[in-house]
Amino acid sequence: MTQTVNRVESKKVLYELSNGGCLKIDKNALRIMNGYKQSEKKDVEAGGIIMGRFIKNSKNIIIDKITEPAKDDKRSRYSFKRISLQHQLTLEEEWTNSFGTCNYLGEWHTHPEDYPTPSSIDLKDWKRKLKTDIFSSRYLYFIIAGITEVEIWEGDRRNLEIKQLKKIK
Ligand SMILES: [Zn+2]
Repeated sequence: MTQTVNRVESKKVLYELSNGGCLKIDKNALRIMNGYKQSEKKDVEAGGIIMGRFIKNSKNIIIDKITEPAKDDKRSRYSFKRISLQHQLTLEEEWTNSFGTCNYLGEWHTHPEDYPTPSSIDLKDWKRKLKTDIFSSRYLYFIIAGITEVEIWEGDRRNLEIKQLKKIK
């Protein structure tokens, strides 16, 4: 048990942003996502909102809060649809409690594959979010937690381009 936790915690969770800064996924957020890993045949997809902070006087971002699936979300082996209002409520609560420093940064979900890649439905969803969501910054981030790796993509709302972020070794 202890060994599993150590292995998860020692994983690289730093990614290179296109602006030269770096993005970090906080241990707690990572631990929650890893808890929903689809390592068994019966496991269905999970997902939620990712939230975090822009670090002052730097180009760095830290993802430190995520929401978890709620009971009215639609979950199956190969899809996750965020339906529950709970995600939005949590976001508003975090935003208020942090005096506006904890922001909406994007979405996460799991995939039943070791090294996750977005499906065509994911890409369509992400582009729709970039076009229609109201958020303050230029980019949104999309995490897919696979069984072995957690990968993250950066979406640019100016040109709707979606780029996978490189892990910093
Ligand atoms: Zn997906």
